[in-house]
This record gives sequence, structure tokens and C-alpha cells, in this order.
Amino acid sequence: MKATVFILLQFLLISLSAQICPYPEESYYKYVISTLAHDSMEGRLPGTIHEKRAAGFIENEFRKTKCVPVKKKQYVFPFDFKNPDSVVVHSAGNVLAKIETKSDFCIVVSAHYDHIGWGKHHSNDPFSQKIHNGADDNASGVAMLLSLAGWYSSHRDSLQYDIVFAAFSGEEDGLFGAKEFLKSGTVDTSKILCNINLDMVGHLDKTRPILMAESALLFTQWDTVLPIKSEFNFIVEISGTLFKDGADHNVFLNARIPGILFSTGLTEHYHRPSDDESTINYSGMIEIHNYLRMAKTITE
Ligand SMILES: [Zn+2]
Repeated sequence: MKATVFILLQFLLISLSAQICPYPEESYYKYVISTLAHDSMEGRLPGTIHEKRAAGFIENEFRKTKCVPVKKKQYVFPFDFKNPDSVVVHSAGNVLAKIETKSDFCIVVSAHYDHIGWGKHHSNDPFSQKIHNGADDNASGVAMLLSLAGWYSSHRDSLQYDIVFAAFSGEEDGLFGAKEFLKSGTVDTSKILCNINLDMVGHLDKTRPILMAESALLFTQWDTVLPIKSEFNFIVEISGTLFKDGADHNVFLNARIPGILFSTGLTEHYHRPSDDESTINYSGMIEIHNYLRMAKTITE
């Protein structure tokens, strides 16, 4: 009898945990990164059909998390941009979704999903003539964004503020998606409390595991948002500026909105054709997810 109760309880606990917390799972990260960093996406260059396919994939994943559109039924927000050194106008798109609460304020969690295509521009191996798949940069950030969207969506009753999840495009060419997001007024910028940006979170070093929290030093309050000494198997390195205006949170900082970047940093695969799905540290991503979702700014 006792054994039966025990087994039933076990079953109940398993089904409860599956219901409440479907994310994160390594298989989910692998699915997202394998899709976005597949050769058929040709490096998700803004303005190409491949970038639009990636946007459609992300929209579909947002729908699965039960996050709602930011405006009516619209998840993808197209915009045009032009590089200062080019006459060509590119048409790209941000993918946005949100969780609504009773609060007037929101937190923007972001990750760019574009990459550099065949590496004509911005490649560290420009003569390779190979697809730059951008698995770590930044399919990993998008996978983390989606898993946080899923987790927070299933814990929406405990949220203190709205959360807007933003998959930006045009990042590699000059942070154009994030700039468009703030300029467009899609979300009232005076109501944005802060930006948490995820860029390259798939290469947690196995021998010297460090998660960088860039720009955290600019905000004293970050000390209390997330613990620096965590129970997780990595060190959180609080820093000033690491990427020197090269990541989307800088756009928020320039608009006087607190912004922080989480990243496992640059590796030998950065902006090279070798940035492939096989290099991703999936168990490290699970640890980072479990850490990030402790953010006190978000949950009570
Ligand atoms: Zn990036």
C-alpha cells in the first residue's frame, strides 16, 4: 500500500514539474540551436529569406510558450536599415512577445537572432567562403530567451512586472534592431525598467566556467538583483564594458535605460565558420538558465 502511494506521489510530482516547468531542457536548446544554426539558414543574414525563416521559427516558438503579441496579432516587426558605408537598404524584422501583468512597467529580455551569413562582412575568416552558422552567436542567446519566455510564462502569477521578450535583427551590422525597437514606440520606453541582453551564452568554459555580466558595474542595484556567488558551477564576473558598444544592451544604456549583458564571452569560434552547434555546452546553458531566472527584478 505504502509503495503504491509512493509511486503515485512520484508520478504526481513528475507530472506537476512537467506542467509547471517545461523549460529548460537540453533537448529544447539543441532543437532551437540546430534549427537556427543549420546550413539551410545560411547564417541568418538580415534582408535575406533565411533571416525571415528564422523570424518565423522564433514567432512559432513564442506562440508555444503562450506569450502574447506586443501589438494585436503581430509578432514580427519589419524595419529597414542601411549601413553607413553602403547605399543598399536592407529589410529586416524584430520578433517580439510579452507576458502581461497588472504592472505598468516592463523588463525587456533580448537576444539578437541575426548573424553574418557567408561572412562577407564582420568575419574573422573572410576568405573562407563558408557559411557562418552562428550557433553560439547568437542562436544560443535566442534559445535561452525562448526557454526563459517559457519558464516565466508558466510562472506568470509570480511576476512583478510585464516582460517583453525581444529577438532583435540587424545587430551584427550596427545594433539596428534594438535601435528600431526603442525608436518605434512599440513599447513605451518610459515604462522600461531595464534590459537583460543575452549574447553568446553557449560556450561556458568547462575548466574555467565564467558567466560575464557586462555593464553590471554601472548599476549599484544589480548587486541585489542576482547573487554574484551562486550555488551554480560558474563564477559570475561583473564587469564594466566588454564589447565596447557592440551589443544591444548598449542601445538601452544610451537611452538611459539600465542594460546588462550576459555572455560566456568570446572564443576561438567567434565570427568564424566553426561556430557550429556541435561546440555548444548544453549543460552549461541549463545552469545559466537556472541562474538567470532567479533575477529578483523579475520575480517577487
Ligand atoms: Zn552576437
